[in-house]
Amino acid sequence: MDSFLPLLWDLLFPVRCVSCRAPGSWWCEVCRKKSELIRRNPCPNCASRKAVHDCPKSLGLDGIAALGFYHDPRLRSVLHALKYKGATVVMSAVEERLGEWAEERLDIWPWSGLSNLAIQPAIGAPHSVRRRGFDQAHLLSCVVNRVLIPWAAPLDILTRTDSLEPQARLDVGDVRRANVAGSFGLEPGASVPPNILLVDDVLTSGATLDEAARVLRAAGAEKIYALVLAIGA
Ligand SMILES: [Zn+2]
Ligand SMILES: [Zn+2]
Repeated sequence: MDSFLPLLWDLLFPVRCVSCRAPGSWWCEVCRKKSELIRRNPCPNCASRKAVHDCPKSLGLDGIAALGFYHDPRLRSVLHALKYKGATVVMSAVEERLGEWAEERLDIWPWSGLSNLAIQPAIGAPHSVRRRGFDQAHLLSCVVNRVLIPWAAPLDILTRTDSLEPQARLDVGDVRRANVAGSFGLEPGASVPPNILLVDDVLTSGATLDEAARVLRAAGAEKIYALVLAIGA
């Protein structure tokens, strides 16, 4: 009987790839391997991937590492499953892809050479964390810490209040920036280390990471980096 129930569950709700619906795994090997990896670090000032570009210097970061592109349907399916369907089971496949990314990178990590680094999730707004029952930035931060940078210290000093409007309903640029402003804060009495890696799922306008970095820098952080799963709207 004990082995019958899981079998019945699998029959009723078969595990399927969140991207191509192939049975057998949450993110099949074909989709995982076909999701394009970013092998060079984007510009820390504007997140552009072009070596030569007209840089608006809109971000206050010291370096960015991004796994892939938001416009890549295979990676986007995973991000959507994680964010909107609560499918945290896809994290094991993400973990695998992060390992492959580390092996295939052409650039050194932006934080390379530092002897100390703390990993801080760019925590989600309280209303989305309540709705989903988990914070994907937090989950991701733990995986990044374990798989990519085991020597870094986990950090949990950011607080966040709800912004006025969900980001997706607003236009990019200044409106998003104004919307996110003031939403991050620090835990009372928090001790802020000098080198911090912010982890988030997606970087679109960069307003969220920029705001988190601003708060941390104002409290004494010297170098602030970002690692995201996907870049671009
Ligand atoms: Zn697939
Ligand atoms: Zn730039």
